[in-house]
Amino acid sequence: MIAIKDNIAAVELQISSACYQAHRHADEITLLAVSKTKTVELIEQAYDVGQRAFGESYVQEAVEKIIALQNKTDISWHFIGPIQTNKTKLIAEHFSWVHSIDRAKVAKRLNEHRSAQDTPLNVCLQVNISGEESKSGVFIDELPSLLTTVNDCENLCLRGLMAIPEKNASQASFIKMQKLFESLQKQYPTMDTLSMGMSADLQLAINAGSTLVRIGSAIFGARE
Ligand SMILES: *Cc1c(COP(=O)(O)O)cnc(C)c1O
Repeated sequence: MIAIKDNIAAVELQISSACYQAHRHADEITLLAVSKTKTVELIEQAYDVGQRAFGESYVQEAVEKIIALQNKTDISWHFIGPIQTNKTKLIAEHFSWVHSIDRAKVAKRLNEHRSAQDTPLNVCLQVNISGEESKSGVFIDELPSLLTTVNDCENLCLRGLMAIPEKNASQASFIKMQKLFESLQKQYPTMDTLSMGMSADLQLAINAGSTLVRIGSAIFGARE
Protein backbone atom coordinates (compact mmCIF):
# COMPACT_ATOMS: atom_id res chain seq x y z
CA MET A 1 0.00 0.00 0.00
CA ILE A 2 1.27 3.47 -0.81
CA ALA A 3 1.68 5.51 2.35
CA ILE A 4 -0.56 8.41 1.36
CA LYS A 5 -0.35 9.79 4.86
CA ASP A 6 3.46 9.95 4.78
CA ASN A 7 3.46 11.39 1.28
CA ILE A 8 1.11 14.21 2.26
CA ALA A 9 3.19 14.94 5.35
CA ALA A 10 6.33 15.09 3.18
CA VAL A 11 4.68 17.45 0.67
CA GLU A 12 3.45 19.68 3.50
CA LEU A 13 6.99 19.79 4.86
CA GLN A 14 8.27 20.76 1.41
CA ILE A 15 5.70 23.54 1.27
CA SER A 16 6.65 24.89 4.70
CA SER A 17 10.32 24.77 3.87
CA ALA A 18 9.70 26.59 0.56
CA CYS A 19 7.63 29.18 2.43
CA TYR A 20 10.36 29.63 5.01
CA GLN A 21 12.90 30.33 2.27
CA ALA A 22 10.51 32.73 0.57
CA HIS A 23 9.64 34.48 3.85
CA ARG A 24 6.01 33.46 3.53
CA HIS A 25 3.58 31.60 5.79
CA ALA A 26 2.57 28.05 4.92
CA ASP A 27 -1.07 28.87 5.65
CA GLU A 28 -1.09 31.13 2.58
CA ILE A 29 -0.77 28.02 0.40
CA THR A 30 -3.53 25.56 -0.46
CA LEU A 31 -2.40 22.06 -1.29
CA LEU A 32 -4.46 20.65 -4.14
CA ALA A 33 -4.06 16.86 -4.28
CA VAL A 34 -4.21 15.89 -7.94
CA SER A 35 -6.01 12.54 -7.99
CA LYS A 36 -6.48 12.00 -11.73
CA THR A 37 -6.25 8.31 -12.70
CA LYS A 38 -6.20 7.39 -8.98
CA THR A 39 -8.87 5.32 -7.25
CA VAL A 40 -11.63 6.33 -4.85
CA GLU A 41 -9.86 4.28 -2.17
CA LEU A 42 -6.69 6.34 -2.48
CA ILE A 43 -8.69 9.58 -2.35
CA GLU A 44 -10.39 8.32 0.81
CA GLN A 45 -7.01 7.64 2.39
CA ALA A 46 -6.00 11.23 1.71
CA TYR A 47 -9.34 12.45 3.02
CA ASP A 48 -8.90 10.46 6.22
CA VAL A 49 -5.70 12.36 7.02
CA GLY A 50 -7.40 15.71 6.46
CA GLN A 51 -6.93 16.47 2.75
CA ARG A 52 -10.01 18.26 1.38
CA ALA A 53 -9.10 19.77 -2.03
CA PHE A 54 -8.72 17.39 -4.97
CA GLY A 55 -7.83 18.10 -8.60
CA GLU A 56 -9.03 16.10 -11.59
CA SER A 57 -8.34 16.38 -15.33
CA TYR A 58 -10.62 13.86 -17.05
CA VAL A 59 -14.31 14.65 -16.79
CA GLN A 60 -15.92 11.22 -17.05
CA GLU A 61 -13.55 9.56 -14.64
CA ALA A 62 -13.81 12.48 -12.22
CA VAL A 63 -17.61 12.53 -12.17
CA GLU A 64 -17.73 8.84 -11.27
CA LYS A 65 -15.42 9.45 -8.32
CA ILE A 66 -17.26 12.60 -7.23
CA ILE A 67 -20.53 10.67 -7.17
CA ALA A 68 -18.95 7.77 -5.29
CA LEU A 69 -17.67 10.22 -2.65
CA GLN A 70 -20.70 12.52 -2.52
CA ASN A 71 -21.34 11.78 1.16
CA LYS A 72 -18.06 13.60 1.93
CA THR A 73 -19.66 16.98 1.41
CA ASP A 74 -16.63 19.01 2.54
CA ILE A 75 -14.44 17.93 -0.38
CA SER A 76 -13.80 20.67 -2.92
CA TRP A 77 -13.32 19.31 -6.42
CA HIS A 78 -11.15 21.30 -8.81
CA PHE A 79 -11.16 20.73 -12.56
CA ILE A 80 -7.65 21.39 -13.89
CA GLY A 81 -7.59 19.72 -17.32
CA PRO A 82 -8.22 20.95 -20.85
CA ILE A 83 -11.93 21.73 -21.36
CA GLN A 84 -13.92 20.47 -24.32
CA THR A 85 -17.09 22.49 -24.84
CA ASN A 86 -19.26 19.35 -24.80
CA LYS A 87 -18.08 18.66 -21.23
CA THR A 88 -18.96 22.05 -19.73
CA LYS A 89 -22.33 20.86 -18.37
CA LEU A 90 -20.81 18.01 -16.37
CA ILE A 91 -18.03 20.26 -15.10
CA ALA A 92 -20.46 23.00 -14.01
CA GLU A 93 -22.66 20.45 -12.26
CA HIS A 94 -20.01 18.56 -10.32
CA PHE A 95 -17.06 20.82 -9.57
CA SER A 96 -16.69 23.83 -7.30
CA TRP A 97 -13.56 25.14 -9.01
CA VAL A 98 -12.24 25.25 -12.59
CA HIS A 99 -8.62 26.32 -13.17
CA SER A 100 -8.36 25.90 -16.90
CA ILE A 101 -10.64 28.42 -18.60
CA ASP A 102 -8.83 29.61 -21.72
CA ARG A 103 -11.54 30.92 -24.02
CA ALA A 104 -14.78 32.87 -23.92
CA LYS A 105 -16.93 30.09 -25.35
CA VAL A 106 -16.01 27.77 -22.47
CA ALA A 107 -16.64 30.51 -19.89
CA LYS A 108 -20.07 31.30 -21.32
CA ARG A 109 -21.11 27.67 -21.41
CA LEU A 110 -19.94 27.01 -17.85
CA ASN A 111 -21.88 30.10 -16.78
CA GLU A 112 -25.07 28.89 -18.48
CA HIS A 113 -24.85 25.42 -16.98
CA ARG A 114 -24.02 26.73 -13.52
CA SER A 115 -27.28 28.70 -13.30
CA ALA A 116 -28.96 25.58 -11.90
CA GLN A 117 -26.73 25.62 -8.80
CA ASP A 118 -27.05 27.99 -5.85
CA THR A 119 -23.33 28.80 -5.60
CA PRO A 120 -21.16 30.34 -8.31
CA LEU A 121 -18.37 28.29 -9.87
CA ASN A 122 -14.93 29.51 -8.73
CA VAL A 123 -12.73 30.01 -11.76
CA CYS A 124 -9.12 30.69 -12.68
CA LEU A 125 -8.02 31.62 -16.18
CA GLN A 126 -5.19 29.51 -17.51
CA VAL A 127 -2.45 31.72 -18.93
CA ASN A 128 0.04 30.55 -21.53
CA ILE A 129 3.23 32.16 -20.23
CA SER A 130 5.67 30.12 -22.25
CA GLY A 131 4.39 31.43 -25.59
CA GLU A 132 3.97 29.15 -28.58
CA GLU A 133 5.38 25.98 -27.08
CA SER A 134 2.54 24.97 -24.81
CA LYS A 135 -0.87 24.39 -26.34
CA SER A 136 -3.13 25.42 -23.51
CA GLY A 137 -3.85 28.72 -21.91
CA VAL A 138 -4.85 32.15 -23.12
CA PHE A 139 -2.07 34.33 -24.51
CA ILE A 140 -1.35 37.39 -22.40
CA ASP A 141 -2.55 39.80 -25.08
CA GLU A 142 -5.94 38.06 -25.17
CA LEU A 143 -6.28 37.95 -21.39
CA PRO A 144 -7.98 41.37 -20.86
CA SER A 145 -10.91 40.50 -23.10
CA LEU A 146 -11.35 37.06 -21.52
CA LEU A 147 -11.28 38.65 -18.06
CA THR A 148 -14.06 41.03 -19.06
CA THR A 149 -16.17 38.15 -20.35
CA VAL A 150 -15.67 36.03 -17.23
CA ASN A 151 -16.25 38.94 -14.89
CA ASP A 152 -19.62 39.55 -16.57
CA CYS A 153 -20.72 35.94 -16.01
CA GLU A 154 -22.99 36.04 -12.99
CA ASN A 155 -22.62 32.34 -12.14
CA LEU A 156 -18.82 32.42 -12.24
CA CYS A 157 -16.63 33.91 -9.52
CA LEU A 158 -13.30 35.12 -10.91
CA ARG A 159 -10.74 33.83 -8.39
CA GLY A 160 -7.44 34.09 -10.22
CA LEU A 161 -4.92 32.77 -12.70
CA MET A 162 -3.40 29.38 -13.36
CA ALA A 163 -0.19 28.54 -15.19
CA ILE A 164 1.79 25.47 -16.11
CA PRO A 165 5.26 26.86 -16.81
CA GLU A 166 7.30 24.77 -19.24
CA LYS A 167 9.74 22.23 -17.88
CA ASN A 168 12.84 23.89 -16.45
CA ALA A 169 11.25 27.33 -16.68
CA SER A 170 13.30 30.02 -14.99
CA GLN A 171 12.33 31.97 -11.89
CA ALA A 172 11.66 34.88 -14.26
CA SER A 173 8.62 33.25 -15.87
CA PHE A 174 7.08 32.63 -12.46
CA ILE A 175 7.73 36.26 -11.48
CA LYS A 176 6.09 37.35 -14.71
CA MET A 177 2.93 35.51 -13.63
CA GLN A 178 3.13 37.06 -10.18
CA LYS A 179 3.34 40.59 -11.60
CA LEU A 180 0.45 39.93 -13.95
CA PHE A 181 -1.64 38.50 -11.12
CA GLU A 182 -0.91 41.34 -8.73
CA SER A 183 -1.67 44.02 -11.30
CA LEU A 184 -5.01 42.39 -12.13
CA GLN A 185 -5.99 42.05 -8.47
CA LYS A 186 -6.32 45.83 -8.29
CA GLN A 187 -8.86 45.77 -11.09
CA TYR A 188 -10.62 42.54 -10.04
CA PRO A 189 -10.77 42.37 -6.24
CA THR A 190 -12.30 38.87 -6.17
CA MET A 191 -8.97 37.50 -7.46
CA ASP A 192 -7.14 35.82 -4.59
CA THR A 193 -5.72 32.66 -6.18
CA LEU A 194 -2.53 32.11 -8.13
CA SER A 195 -2.59 28.42 -9.08
CA MET A 196 1.03 27.66 -9.88
CA GLY A 197 3.53 25.03 -8.81
CA MET A 198 3.86 21.27 -9.11
CA SER A 199 6.25 18.85 -7.42
CA ALA A 200 9.28 19.84 -9.48
CA ASP A 201 8.85 23.63 -9.33
CA LEU A 202 7.30 24.19 -5.92
CA GLN A 203 10.02 26.49 -4.63
CA LEU A 204 10.05 28.72 -7.73
CA ALA A 205 6.25 28.99 -7.59
CA ILE A 206 6.15 29.80 -3.89
CA ASN A 207 8.93 32.37 -4.31
CA ALA A 208 6.67 34.04 -6.87
CA GLY A 209 3.53 34.32 -4.78
CA SER A 210 1.71 31.11 -5.65
CA THR A 211 -1.29 30.53 -3.35
CA LEU A 212 -2.19 27.04 -4.57
CA VAL A 213 0.09 24.19 -5.59
CA ARG A 214 -1.14 21.19 -7.57
CA ILE A 215 0.59 17.99 -6.51
CA GLY A 216 -0.19 14.55 -7.94
CA SER A 217 2.49 11.89 -8.11
CA ALA A 218 4.30 12.99 -4.94
CA ILE A 219 1.10 12.15 -3.04
CA PHE A 220 -0.46 9.26 -4.94
CA GLY A 221 2.53 7.73 -6.69
CA ALA A 222 3.44 7.77 -10.38
CA ARG A 223 0.65 7.49 -12.95
CA GLU A 224 0.64 4.62 -15.47
C1 LIG B 1 -1.38 16.18 -13.50
C2 LIG B 1 -1.33 17.60 -13.18
C3 LIG B 1 -0.66 18.08 -12.05
C4 LIG B 1 0.09 17.19 -11.08
O1 LIG B 1 1.24 16.72 -11.66
P1 LIG B 1 2.28 15.79 -10.85
O2 LIG B 1 3.49 15.84 -11.68
O3 LIG B 1 1.67 14.43 -10.77
O4 LIG B 1 2.48 16.41 -9.50
C5 LIG B 1 -0.70 19.44 -11.80
N1 LIG B 1 -1.34 20.31 -12.62
C6 LIG B 1 -1.99 19.89 -13.72
C7 LIG B 1 -2.67 20.88 -14.59
C8 LIG B 1 -2.00 18.54 -14.04
O5 LIG B 1 -2.65 18.14 -15.14
